Amino acid sequence: MEAADFVVIGAGIAGASVAFELAAHGRVVVVEREAVPGYHTTGRSAAVFTEAYESDDVRSLTRASRPFLEHPPEGFTDVPILTPLPVMFIAREDQLRLLEEELGRSARLLQRIETSEAIELCPVLDPDYLAGALLESGAMSIDVHALHQGFLRGLRRRGGQVRSNAEVTGLHHDTAWTVETADGTIQTPVVVNASGAWADQIAALAGVRPLGLTPLRRTAFTFQPPVDMSGQPMVIDVEESFYFKPDGVMLLASPCDETPMEPCDVRHEEIDVAIAIDRIQQATTMHIRHVKTAWAGLRTFAPDRKPVVGWDPEVPGFFWLVGQGGFGIMTSPAMAQTAAGLITETPEGVDATRLDPARFV
Ligand SMILES: Cc1cc2nc3c(=O)[nH]c(=O)nc-3n(C[C@H](O)[C@H](O)[C@H](O)COP(=O)(O)OP(=O)(O)OC[C@H]3O[C@@H](n4cnc5c(N)ncnc54)[C@H](O)[C@@H]3O)c2cc1C
Repeated sequence: MEAADFVVIGAGIAGASVAFELAAHGRVVVVEREAVPGYHTTGRSAAVFTEAYESDDVRSLTRASRPFLEHPPEGFTDVPILTPLPVMFIAREDQLRLLEEELGRSARLLQRIETSEAIELCPVLDPDYLAGALLESGAMSIDVHALHQGFLRGLRRRGGQVRSNAEVTGLHHDTAWTVETADGTIQTPVVVNASGAWADQIAALAGVRPLGLTPLRRTAFTFQPPVDMSGQPMVIDVEESFYFKPDGVMLLASPCDETPMEPCDVRHEEIDVAIAIDRIQQATTMHIRHVKTAWAGLRTFAPDRKPVVGWDPEVPGFFWLVGQGGFGIMTSPAMAQTAAGLITETPEGVDATRLDPARFV
């Protein structure tokens, strides 16, 4: 039987990044059910880096990831991973209080701008709709493909392996773990569960108590704007009920839906696209006639919406790296370093006390 120091389940951004870090410490095998790594949530994101998003714990991880994303290791990628993409939070008259609250939470990151300036930055905004705006000028667009491939390439250079078409079908623990896959059996002292929406199912397979993770469907689509809007900021409703951002010559938009789902190869529903179109048309002068492409992905959250990074408190050798919700790309470097630090007992990453899975037991 084959042996490895670490087996990582899932080759999305979570699995690829932690495998890259672990490969500096021992022999890593990543097992992925699909033929192509990144087929699920990682390949379906909006590719945004914003420090003004979600809880303080998530913000710390995003902030801690910035140096890696700005200056990745030598040979990691040939292209910049981050390019500037200011994010503008907008509000109607009845949402101005929320805008103030957001500014209070993120004073270091956000700056209030006049509505006239907001319209100058994004001329399709409807002056009759817009009552206030904040700008996060340090936000970025992420080249997700370059980041994901950089981790996988770096992993291979360090001697690690990625097995595609290798669905995990059995997990048994004796003195070590036996990992049964569609592509053979591997023995290892450490299993890292980075299987995204399937993480509770993997736990059940291993006889580990599930955490109560919920995959939530999120829809995205692209359409041709009336004029070239490349170089303009991303626009987000302050209540997060829609957003749109330049994506090459197209706009990428979402209704920010969160529909609970069973883990699956999720498809979008036309109604969610229609809802987004309606909200965007109310806020702008755009008339969206034709959707170019639409898709959906599963953003998987722990009950407290914070990521889960740590050893299972009950079953030895089982490590959780899950609950990346809508921030798993931008937090991946710090999450991976933190996970690898805990697994190898080296001082890497951030303080993960508040991310420990023991909080759910
Ligand atoms: C529309 C949308 C917009 C988003 N926008 C952003 C954004 O702007 N910025 C940001 O940072 N994040 C964003 N996200 C969130 C981000 O995409 C996710 O947090 C991240 O991709 C999760 O990565 P993952 O590796 O945990 O999951 P996945 O990419 O889903 O990887 C899990 C892998 O595990 C594999 N697997 C499952 N079961 C098994 C098994 N039994 N055996 C072997 N392999 C298995 C799956 O095949 C899969 O490849 C967005 C998500 C969506 C859907």
